[in-house]
Amino acid sequence: MSTTSLISSLFRAEIQSMSAYKVADAHGFIKLDAMENPYHWPPELTEHWLTSLRSCALNRYPDPEATRLIETLRGHDEIPESVAMLLGNGSDELIQLLLMALTPTQAVLAPAPSFVMYKQISQSLNLAYFAPSLHAEDFSLDIAHTLHLIQSHQPAIIFIAYPNNPTGNLFKAEDIHTIINASTGLVVIDEAYAPFANASFLPELQRYKNVLIMRTLSKLGLAGLRLGYLMGHTDIISQLNKIRLPYNINVLTQVTAEFALSHKHVFTEQTQLICQHRQWVFEQLQAHSELTVFPSAANFILFKTAAQQADRIHAHLKTQGVLIKNMHSQGGLMQDCLRVTIGTEAENKAFISALTTALTTIN
Ligand SMILES: *Cc1c(COP(=O)(O)O)cnc(C)c1O
Repeated sequence: MSTTSLISSLFRAEIQSMSAYKVADAHGFIKLDAMENPYHWPPELTEHWLTSLRSCALNRYPDPEATRLIETLRGHDEIPESVAMLLGNGSDELIQLLLMALTPTQAVLAPAPSFVMYKQISQSLNLAYFAPSLHAEDFSLDIAHTLHLIQSHQPAIIFIAYPNNPTGNLFKAEDIHTIINASTGLVVIDEAYAPFANASFLPELQRYKNVLIMRTLSKLGLAGLRLGYLMGHTDIISQLNKIRLPYNINVLTQVTAEFALSHKHVFTEQTQLICQHRQWVFEQLQAHSELTVFPSAANFILFKTAAQQADRIHAHLKTQGVLIKNMHSQGGLMQDCLRVTIGTEAENKAFISALTTALTTIN
């Protein structure tokens, strides 16, 4: 039997028609494409960390409940004991877990554009996916259209990224409350960019039983660790916990995350610096009159080029050794858009100077 006939007889059609999530090869580039924290730790902190790793029992399975780490996260984010928590190998895994728990005939809703994994994983599970477009001018939620879709399709899960990726804005809290109140399913507020945003729905968990808050350590500065966490009502979290793989958070992640979060000040300083530099990059971008720059509450900035220039500018930046994210191919509201992650001061300067060169060369 050929692999082709094996595949077509065994695998679901929706999987056969998918393409794998591709990540650009960033080797040798100034890497400003993936919302990573650009800073390293002070050398003495790295030494302490290595010492803490010595006591890791790699021959043993990790604590399946990651009890100490959960306590550390509670302290870090001031999560009350009444709120239940579930850890994932990145928040990506939590999105997968949430969607895997649904009945196959159910629907999922998230605005467009938003984080690609909501759609990618929904499609892999053959769940109906509805994506009301954001308003083109300011990427705010189209409440009328969203409420209409909620009413007609009763989505089991609504994902709202707050701030939103790839647009960078915070939706109006009032609009999110409207959606929560209209929903008959779960509303997941994805706060991946909370460290940069100064806004959160965490206090609202007391009020809404159908709301879950999702966070990650990735954008804070630990993308390599893969640790996401979901917070919400005990009854809901307990159900999801049944399909979590028992040892999904490995021992190195548990020990390292506990260590890192006990040195919170390092990350606070780094995120503050990133927010300051975000302002500088924003102003530099705005100085180019041919660009439209969108305000951001995250660690990246989305901007729009003149019509049909995004691919050329993106490619030209690459020839100058700077890698940012080309959003243009996603189409829709992302036409002519590029997204840059805030890096170190030197990286930001290199980006702005390369962009200036690209814009003058192309015009
Ligand atoms: C980056 C990102 C995530 C993924 O986080 P991981 O914990 O690294 O899997 C989730 N949601 C949004 C909105 C993101 O931008």
